[in-house]
Amino acid sequence: MKWRNRRVSGNIEDRRASGRKSSRKVGGISAIIITLAAMYFGVDPGIIFSLLENTGGQSSSVQQSTYRPSAEQQQLAEFTGVVLADTEDTWNMLFQQQGIRYQEPKLVLFTNTVRSACGHAEAAMGPFYCPGDHKVYIDLGFYQQLKTEHNAPGDFAQAYVVAHEVGHHVQNLLGISTKVNKAQQRMSKTEANQLSVMLELQADCFAGLWAHHTQKAKQILEQGDVEEALNAASQIGDDRLQKQARGYASPESFTHGTSRQRVQWFKKGFAEGTMQGCHTFLSL
Ligand SMILES: [Zn+2]
Repeated sequence: MKWRNRRVSGNIEDRRASGRKSSRKVGGISAIIITLAAMYFGVDPGIIFSLLENTGGQSSSVQQSTYRPSAEQQQLAEFTGVVLADTEDTWNMLFQQQGIRYQEPKLVLFTNTVRSACGHAEAAMGPFYCPGDHKVYIDLGFYQQLKTEHNAPGDFAQAYVVAHEVGHHVQNLLGISTKVNKAQQRMSKTEANQLSVMLELQADCFAGLWAHHTQKAKQILEQGDVEEALNAASQIGDDRLQKQARGYASPESFTHGTSRQRVQWFKKGFAEGTMQGCHTFLSL
């Protein structure tokens, strides 16, 4: 992906210097969190946050004075800022077409742990969006995990992650997430999970919209880019993650969609470029 010497978003909040190192040993609650971390992208934050809040009493040390990002880290931060700027351009335009104003989200870079309006979060949970403060949170170490643990290398795969999280912000602005959350309270767990899948697939489709419009406006794609994003979408499907984690997959517990579905919806957004095309709620 061509990203150098392009506009970097002014909405990056760099909190890496105040990242706290937790001295807790891995085990108990942390083990649960790490298991949950397998389910990247919009794991219901409420559940994890409440788990984390209950662990209490962690001794922390602020690293402020010693923090110096490496050149590579700085590059990743700049890259993330460029992708965020692309999402701003895309969504400002798409909202304008509908006669509404897009409120740009902030993107918080953090190290290890972070506090959000949704509670306390750890890097192991993966990137997430907090509707309470309109912010996307990402520990840049996740890009490395994407490559080594999920076999999804490439800058376009990383960009897809950011665009997916911004997709959740769009759903929040449009009132879609609130509607879904309300409906879920009146449902069985299995039905509620199905709605979560639709929400996630729509965020994948919205990531496809980002790719479509950014390519159209700025010709950013290089050979193999789209394949990188499709591969990432496929590697983090619920079916594949569950099989990896425990040897089998149980569809009723899916919250993000299968590999095939995730690829399909990203592709659809990318090919069509319209919000109307991302009607995951009608099609499942
Ligand atoms: Zn998500």
